[in-house]
Amino acid sequence: MSTVELEGYRVLAREWLAAADVPHVPLDLDERFAVLREWQHTLFDAGWIGISWSREAGGQGLTPMHQLVFAEELARARAPMPIGLIGLDVVGPSIDHHGQSWQREELLPALLSGEHIWCQGFSEPNAGSDLASLRTRAVIDGNDFVISGQKVWTSWAHKSQWCALLVRTDPGAHKNAGISYVLVDMSSPGITVRPLEQMTGDREFCEVFFDEVRVPRRNLVGELNQGWTVATHTLGIERAAYTVRRRVDYEVAFEDAVAALRESDLPGPETALGRRVRVALGRVQIALRVLGAQTRQTVKRLDAGEVPTPEDSVDKLLLNGIEQTVFGSIAELLGPSRALSGSTPLGLEADRWVHDHLYSRSASIYGGTSQVQRNIISERLLGLPRG
Ligand SMILES: Cc1cc2nc3c(=O)[nH]c(=O)nc-3n(C[C@H](O)[C@H](O)[C@H](O)COP(=O)(O)OP(=O)(O)OC[C@H]3O[C@@H](n4cnc5c(N)ncnc54)[C@H](O)[C@@H]3O)c2cc1C
Repeated sequence: MSTVELEGYRVLAREWLAAADVPHVPLDLDERFAVLREWQHTLFDAGWIGISWSREAGGQGLTPMHQLVFAEELARARAPMPIGLIGLDVVGPSIDHHGQSWQREELLPALLSGEHIWCQGFSEPNAGSDLASLRTRAVIDGNDFVISGQKVWTSWAHKSQWCALLVRTDPGAHKNAGISYVLVDMSSPGITVRPLEQMTGDREFCEVFFDEVRVPRRNLVGELNQGWTVATHTLGIERAAYTVRRRVDYEVAFEDAVAALRESDLPGPETALGRRVRVALGRVQIALRVLGAQTRQTVKRLDAGEVPTPEDSVDKLLLNGIEQTVFGSIAELLGPSRALSGSTPLGLEADRWVHDHLYSRSASIYGGTSQVQRNIISERLLGLPRG
């Protein structure tokens, strides 16, 4: 693919977005969900969803570079992401790669359009970083799995029609050898979903209880007891693809903060506050440059089909720190006015920056904690002995 072709694609995206009815995103979670789902339908109908997915899987058959160009234009147009990112970035690619043909044909179109929202049921109360110790059981009974156990931190489970679930199918096998990856219809009898409140005030993730839930065996992805291979693929894609997407969000957030500060009565660099603002912005700018350099390499790896690899952990580790630097540095500038609602003396919208700062604290946890990424980098990239 040539640079000219990509630039042509960028122009198309920019023109479409300029003419589109870009929605305003409400703060209320339920309203936000409804608006972003409708937005996903709109993007899908216009051919802007599943850009780098194969045509057989219902996508546009283009490259991760095209996907990145659209993500950049979306962010620059201050247009929101679609709601179904767990399906689009995480679960869908694993179904496409490891799934059976009926799963690709019947499940992926509705995932792409946003008709079906997907969640990812991996973590459990005693299995987060040490995911291979998960205990949710699936027993084979005739043509079904019968599933019992509990998941936690399952994002959007209360809004999802489907869940990609990791279950233990061979309790006798050593840890990750007895795990399978199963697709569960969330309307199945025996499933209870309880939303949990985060410190942002949102109820975005949930506890999910399974009480003898019957799931057809045809919903297995990959081989029985080989779910770890699929899960590793899912986590690697999540770390790489998500970092690429989020980089653009941070850059736009930074631009917005700088624009607001420029319009305010920002004191000069000779004052303590003026210096503090400039130091904070410099710190964010450097962090963004570092992430930009890393994600250029990531896009090349995605383009060459070299994801997942342990290098995805470098992306995730950088993302963790940089998300917190960007939003932490900007929120710090609010000072005591972070308790206000609306615009503050420096022109920064307190509600937005406080919300994003609080959410950024989760960056070093979701998709694998910073400590776990450091373990992977030291053992698998640097060849250091296991801790
Ligand atoms: C916003 C958000 C969304 C999420 N969405 C989902 C989702 O949709 N689906 C899902 O399945 N999960 C989801 N999670 C869960 C997430 O994947 C887990 O929280 C994460 O894997 C950590 O697991 P844990 O919370 O059990 O912490 P633990 O694994 O108990 O870790 C506790 C602390 O110990 C440290 N630690 C653990 N093991 C080691 C080690 N070997 N070496 C050094 N330090 C270690 C960790 O780094 C951490 O600081 C989400 C989490 C967040 C915050």
